[in-house]
Amino acid sequence: MDEFELIRRFFVDARPAERVLLGIGDDGAVLEPAQGSSLVAVVDTLIESVHFPKGFAAADLGYRCVAVNLSDIAAMGATPRWMTLALTLTDTDTHWLTGFASGMRAAADAWSMSLVGGDTTRGSQLTATVQVLGELPIGSELRRDGAQPGDSVFVSGSVGDAAAGLGLWAEADKLSAEQQFLAQRFARPTPRLALGKALRGLASAAIDVSDGLLGDLSKLLRASDCGASVALDSLPLSAALKAQFDAVSAERLALTGGDDYELCFCVPPDRVDELLARAAALDETVTCIGRIERQSGLVCIRNGRVIEYDAAGYRHFTGSGS
Ligand code: ADP
Ligand code: MG
Repeated sequence: MDEFELIRRFFVDARPAERVLLGIGDDGAVLEPAQGSSLVAVVDTLIESVHFPKGFAAADLGYRCVAVNLSDIAAMGATPRWMTLALTLTDTDTHWLTGFASGMRAAADAWSMSLVGGDTTRGSQLTATVQVLGELPIGSELRRDGAQPGDSVFVSGSVGDAAAGLGLWAEADKLSAEQQFLAQRFARPTPRLALGKALRGLASAAIDVSDGLLGDLSKLLRASDCGASVALDSLPLSAALKAQFDAVSAERLALTGGDDYELCFCVPPDRVDELLARAAALDETVTCIGRIERQSGLVCIRNGRVIEYDAAGYRHFTGSGS
């Protein structure tokens, strides 16, 4: 049983819930606490040796556990406001806690958020769970289920860097500038909050790339009940990734490596110019990587030829990824 089947089987409730505008199945839940206002809720857990290596810098962990949640908030097009923190510690190390708190505060300050509650426990594995609550004009959320055949598929920034950076972690003290860039992309991801907001009323569907581009785009396609073709030659790869890896490895990292926290989204063809103008105004890079198709499934194309890709991105509980 993979993560998605487990959620479907045990946690999806068929009963219609009151004032839930969007429930399980998207990057965040959209709730209507009072008529005419909407609240977006997201939560993410980072566990030592599962989501980050042992010895990972405390300040980076503090930053990262906020940033990964902000990425889900960005994928909903929302504005983050408040967060809570549930922390499980193996011991009380004040030096470590100082670092963790400073990293967390740096991320919270960067996006004008405040920590308003949480829970602290002792346990056998270092674990940080952050929940972020955000706001959104009612009805303007970016959802996974609105893609239409003919829409262009875009991805922000560059993909594959974080998975490459995680692989470099063991030698963190002797990295070149390029390797440091990749390691930093893992340690301190950039949630695309301004871009997410700019996509309101423009993108037909959106998701953030946390488990790998192919895997996350597949989730969007399933939710939208359509397929897509992706042009492998157009994948946005950073100069550092291309310099550090051969073309085959770089492409595999870009398609199936996780932790990029970029946005993957769809835009109707007649609104692409508007998207490019909005992205340019924000100084955000967006790259068209393919097209939504009526036929279900994801087809990768290189030089006009269809390429089979076996790895469908990372799925928990299947033993197939990080
Ligand atoms: P993401 O990668 O953005 O966290 P996923 O694509 O993994 O989201 O989708 C999982 C969906 O299932 C999300 O809507 C998430 O909120 C929901 N979900 C995950 N675990 C649980 C759970 N234990 N109970 C209820 N909903 C869950
Ligand atoms: Mg997500």
